[in-house]
Amino acid sequence: MRILLVEDEQHLHKLIKMNLELEGFEVDRAVNGQAAIDKIRAAHYDLIILDLMLPKINGMEVLSNLRLTNDTLPVIIISAKDTSSARITGLKEGADDYLTKPFEIEELVLRINKLLTRKTTSDPNHLTTYTFGPNTINFSTYQATTQAGTIDLKQKELQIMKYLISKNNEVVSRQDILKQVWGYDVFPSTRTIDNFIAALRKYFEADPKRPSYIISVRGVGYKFVG
Ligand code: CA
Repeated sequence: MRILLVEDEQHLHKLIKMNLELEGFEVDRAVNGQAAIDKIRAAHYDLIILDLMLPKINGMEVLSNLRLTNDTLPVIIISAKDTSSARITGLKEGADDYLTKPFEIEELVLRINKLLTRKTTSDPNHLTTYTFGPNTINFSTYQATTQAGTIDLKQKELQIMKYLISKNNEVVSRQDILKQVWGYDVFPSTRTIDNFIAALRKYFEADPKRPSYIISVRGVGYKFVG
């Protein structure tokens, strides 16, 4: 799960980032409102943690800008403003939660997990396991059973499979996979994708050179059929 942490105070930023990483989240940072807007536009995030008092563009404007185009991405405001009017404005503008500084990191983590659980359980594409041919992937445990036995998938391998499966029978480009799995701001070469696909075929295809599930579409990308 990828979180964008929008916070200009160095100390607080470090503290939150460190704790969230310990919880297994991937944390990206923005230190002002403009950077936040740019990053949200360019990359994929599962949740935004948003400070209100920010240089350049304030947090409330970042939020209303985000909500113009995306009304499902969970946003938690963290703010020193603990008046009920600030809280109400934040929630009205479309924040999902509001935490007043100072807060316990543990409480932030609990609220993040609650929002992310709500999001995944209400997502119709949410999959726990998926079976194709002799293979079954368990998306919660990162394990897959294949003809060769049980294997542990890397996070990116799992994310790529999940994305391909969600687009069953549709062609997805390498750019789509990059955007979905890495986000635009961390930009590996498209060759990286091909290496991951080669590894996935070794796991799941009877003959990796003649794949029957993860099909290459020349000049475009890949298609999952299964
Ligand atoms: Ca601030």
